[in-house]
Amino acid sequence: MVKGFLDWEEHAKEMTEAQIASRGIRDKALLEAMTRVPRHLFVPEELRHQAFDDMPLPIGAGQTISQPYMVAKMTLLLAPKTGDKILEIGTGSGYQAAVLAELGARVWSVERIPALAERAREVLCDLGYGDRVTVICGDGRLGYPEAAPYDGLIVTAAASVVEPAWKEQLVEGGRLVVPLAQGIWGERLLLCVKKAHGFEESYHDYCRFVPLLPGVADGKDD
Ligand code: SAH
Repeated sequence: MVKGFLDWEEHAKEMTEAQIASRGIRDKALLEAMTRVPRHLFVPEELRHQAFDDMPLPIGAGQTISQPYMVAKMTLLLAPKTGDKILEIGTGSGYQAAVLAELGARVWSVERIPALAERAREVLCDLGYGDRVTVICGDGRLGYPEAAPYDGLIVTAAASVVEPAWKEQLVEGGRLVVPLAQGIWGERLLLCVKKAHGFEESYHDYCRFVPLLPGVADGKDD
């Protein structure tokens, strides 16, 4: 597909085996979905040779595409089923949204930096995900009430609080995955499952994300 990267599928397969399955994530559908997404097309051209490495990478505007393992872990906690409606906060490169689409989800994804939203939209359309992923430029702290309620909501930037809008926009049984700030410890993945009379919460991996920022960027920082 990309010159000099004809064997990307091999890299993707090795990535899922060496970085994800080896760390205990054995969900077959998830591993297969991640081998089908051409991760190298979601990173800047000059970083393509590192696209399948075990790390986050810069994608411009001071933002990053998450480490493959983190994408897998968050997706596992979110546990999307075919046909589920998922809201993502923080489109970034669009890679996480593509993985969710590969798993059969219908995805809405909100990004505050117009240039990133535009680029992600383009890549996702080029790769044929256009009918399953809708990218919105806006402030994801408000969720996206226009398409609510969602079966799952995934936040891919560090939040200092769980926004009430996120909880409100979930169906009963819906799942929210968010890296929640833990003071000097960085963040920790929080899973909230909506029950009839409140939320069941559990804490998972420690992690480091770029911060969730208020409002829509004015173009000066992208
Ligand atoms: N999921 C992405 C990685 C996201 S990095 C991927 O797969 O590549 C976090 C993203 O959240 C950045 O692009 C950042 O601009 C965006 N972001 C930060 N604050 C936001 C907000 N309030 N609303 C929407 N997006 C936000």
